[in-house]
Amino acid sequence: MSTPEKADNTNTVGAENPSAVRDDEDWRRELTPEEYRVLRQAGTERPYTGEYWDTHTAGVYHCRACGAELFTSNEKFDSHCGWPSFWAPLAEERVRYIHDRTLGMERIEVRCSNCDSHLGHVFEGEGYGTPTDQRYCINSISLKLVPAEGTAGADS
Ligand SMILES: [Zn+2]
Repeated sequence: MSTPEKADNTNTVGAENPSAVRDDEDWRRELTPEEYRVLRQAGTERPYTGEYWDTHTAGVYHCRACGAELFTSNEKFDSHCGWPSFWAPLAEERVRYIHDRTLGMERIEVRCSNCDSHLGHVFEGEGYGTPTDQRYCINSISLKLVPAEGTAGADS
């Protein structure tokens, strides 16, 4: 199913937030090499190696690069694919979609709509039995989980 590209992006509130606009050098400085490879070069972490693929903690998953709230534990489900999987984003305008044909098959890339960092891909019709039948297959390294109840392990 192809959704026509929207020419008008002005509904993405955060896009005009100057703090989310960084140049490549800034990203290299602020992110670890692995974060940079995934978030800014659309890399993919190896399955079952990420921090959150098997996490069940209640909370909100923020963009690792800019801190925007992207997903919540309410929509996370066990896909056993080795990456954190969600059946919907926190809100549709939090992410943007890009058609990706690089591997000879069409996949839909998911990016943070605030800072345009790569998050992962979305697949649908796989039969997981979730409310949307979609699987947002997201790299752990693109996310940062903020647990819901208290901030027990505040180690910042
Ligand atoms: Zn972001």
